[in-house]
Amino acid sequence: MNTIVTKFGGSSLADAEQFRKVKNIIISNNARKYVIPSAPGKRTSKDSKITDLLYLCYAHINTGISLDDVFDHIKNRYIDIVTDLKLNLDIRPYLDTIKRDLENGASSDYAASRGEYLNAIILSNYLGFEFIDAKDVIIFNNDSCLNYDETLKLLKEKLSSFDRVVIPGFYGSDKDGNIITFSRGGSDVTGALVTASLNADLYENWTDVSGFLMADPRIISNPKPISTITYTELRELSYMGASVLHEEAIFPVRNAGIPINIRNTNRPKDKGTFIIKDPLNDDSQTITGIAGKKNFTVISITKALMNSELGFCRKILSILEQHNISFENMPSGIDTVCLVISDSQLKNKTSLIVEEIKRTCNPDTIEVHPNMALIATVGKGMAKQKGVASKIFTALSEADVNIRMIDQGSSEINILVGIENNNFEKAITAIYNSFN
Ligand code: ASP
Repeated sequence: MNTIVTKFGGSSLADAEQFRKVKNIIISNNARKYVIPSAPGKRTSKDSKITDLLYLCYAHINTGISLDDVFDHIKNRYIDIVTDLKLNLDIRPYLDTIKRDLENGASSDYAASRGEYLNAIILSNYLGFEFIDAKDVIIFNNDSCLNYDETLKLLKEKLSSFDRVVIPGFYGSDKDGNIITFSRGGSDVTGALVTASLNADLYENWTDVSGFLMADPRIISNPKPISTITYTELRELSYMGASVLHEEAIFPVRNAGIPINIRNTNRPKDKGTFIIKDPLNDDSQTITGIAGKKNFTVISITKALMNSELGFCRKILSILEQHNISFENMPSGIDTVCLVISDSQLKNKTSLIVEEIKRTCNPDTIEVHPNMALIATVGKGMAKQKGVASKIFTALSEADVNIRMIDQGSSEINILVGIENNNFEKAITAIYNSFN
């Protein structure tokens, strides 16, 4: 392998000890030439992330409170790292400039981005790699959306002159030079962009878990690790709540067909999970993972001859659109249609929506089922294998879980069931056990 892009998350760079682990990982493979650091994360569960503290500094300034205490805390964390690593680098002037900028009205994005900026300066010094500021290579349009083409062009140009580079994650700048950040966790996106621009062989995303697990370890004790997963499967699982990677990090590398490897900085020998484009020809694995989300409301509508009434669903959907509500799912039968909507979208608008549907569509019946959960069982193998659905439904029935809704995505890699919130953990356990 010639070129590997490595991204290290906040817990991988939380203190000097973690920086040492990162250096060992990088020097152990000559192909690890491009490094994208996050800001220092939590050292213990009670600790604070630097990014959170920087947002707090910005909030202090905007409410007229002195930022001295919070900023000193940030300053000490960086000074401790530099001192402990015995670097020939004076980080204080950088910190002083940032404090001055904040006091002079710098933006919230600027504030948040400085965690990555400082960490990249320290890491480039520690590794002896070139520092390239993300503001010069990651470009946003003036509406704060990423300018993908311009970014890829600039990354290609700049990176071609250097062999080993550190680029801070999470931010870039717009055409006027203002610092703009991605949404939280966005260093993953920076890493993906760098990977795509170089057409690298691999994107390694180093974090504090050894890849994805088949189910949430808070529900299943010691779930099996997932060794390979396709981009499509991952998308289905992460949309249902399983998350290790920023959603937008997938697209740049997927388009280029480059695999991502999720690795654990604290257990570098673990192979982690490979996210790949094309399914392996491996029949041993029927399902890849199980994930789910609670708190949905299902609005179930029936009307005789619904299937022949032109524009029926369009009318329902335009009611949702007018209220700015997006729906999660819409299973339908010949005379029925269900709207599955997250409670966070519906807020308190359920009765309003129901009334409008009654008025506009004149249904025979309309029922509201609150407190519903969705569980997705995902696996590329299921399209070719018999009995997967039956196994899921038998497991749920034996666990005394009533299935209220079933949907199989058109991609045939996902079977979705709707159940009541209070059966959520029981249902995941039953499905997991039936496949393991
Ligand atoms: N430091 C940022 C955050 O905490 C970005 C990142 O870690 O990727 O969200």
